[in-house]
Amino acid sequence: MVKSSTANVNCLPIINVAPRQVMRGSCILPSAIAAIAALGKRPLIVGGDSTFKSLQSHLEPLFTTPELTLAQASYLPDCSEASLAHLKQAVTKHQADAIIGIGGGKALDSAKLLAYQCHLPVITIPTSAATCAGWTALSNVYSDAGAFLYDVPLPYCPELLILDYELIQTAPRRTLVAGIGDALAKWYEASVSSGSSDETLIIAAVQQARILRDILFQKSATALAEPGSAIWQEVVDATVLLAGVIGGLGGAQCRTVAAHAVHNGLTHLTASHGALHGEKVAYGILVQLRLEEMVQGNQLAATARQQLIAFYEEIGLPKTLEDLGLGNITLSELRQAAEIACAEKSDIHHLPFKVDGDRLIAAMVSTTVTAEAVRQNI
Ligand SMILES: [Zn+2]
Repeated sequence: MVKSSTANVNCLPIINVAPRQVMRGSCILPSAIAAIAALGKRPLIVGGDSTFKSLQSHLEPLFTTPELTLAQASYLPDCSEASLAHLKQAVTKHQADAIIGIGGGKALDSAKLLAYQCHLPVITIPTSAATCAGWTALSNVYSDAGAFLYDVPLPYCPELLILDYELIQTAPRRTLVAGIGDALAKWYEASVSSGSSDETLIIAAVQQARILRDILFQKSATALAEPGSAIWQEVVDATVLLAGVIGGLGGAQCRTVAAHAVHNGLTHLTASHGALHGEKVAYGILVQLRLEEMVQGNQLAATARQQLIAFYEEIGLPKTLEDLGLGNITLSELRQAAEIACAEKSDIHHLPFKVDGDRLIAAMVSTTVTAEAVRQNI
């Protein structure tokens, strides 16, 4: 007998593991035209003005092919509600039937959210390895001034991700360093929020986050010294693709804890806008570990922090507020960032202990304290 009752329906959250298709290679935009055209003949391409200018020759095949009728629109000043309203007008004006996002995390987040709001397919073309935004079913929304406001989980990953290493190599070295910082956070955050889960997919996501961390520890320094090399490509795959897999597999439970909460708080300080997302997150990992040390007396966290400090020094990730360009902020600004990071719904509360603004400030100003000083209670 078939059960027809709907009373027992217990639908778990939908999982969006991956884009439908990922194309990888060097100078692959011309060969991606057919795949783009299969999704839409009149795409609106969303990016920043400087991206369109600096990548003009790379993008020419998309603009000149008879298979596509392209229009371009800027997401600036930020991935904000005002920008999205403006972009929606551009969709209507062009009668776009697909969205292409090109650029860094904010350009791709704008394109994904716009496509979702307009019920259109989205193609992402990352131009740096600074985040896994080209992969994930998530967009972060900021104020016009760049302060983080909220994130929007999306029902799908992008239809097509085009990872062109040639484009990635045009980005400054610092963007890959930041991508490494953001990808490292997957392990430090997922192991805290989900390390004791007995769910198959969550266990898999957490273990992949550990593998991702190990790949980055082993390969980052060489990759940064040899841009364009095979090992460099592997590290780019780690930050753009594998980091995305973990977010997709683990879903909301596996995403962020204190490292990203600290990032979110810092974005409210104008002085932090010179630092990249992954740089602030990398600093946030040290703050998170420091909290675990201070509150729980966690020796594993103390060891992990010293290990990370050595790694950060090797590849150039920020360890302190000063390294982030925030050496001159006032105490009230620091308090403001800490209070936003500790707001009621902040992911910082996924930590297994209570954190308030004062405790967080103490951790934020002591990220590089030595094990010896901690022992002597300095
Ligand atoms: Zn991130």
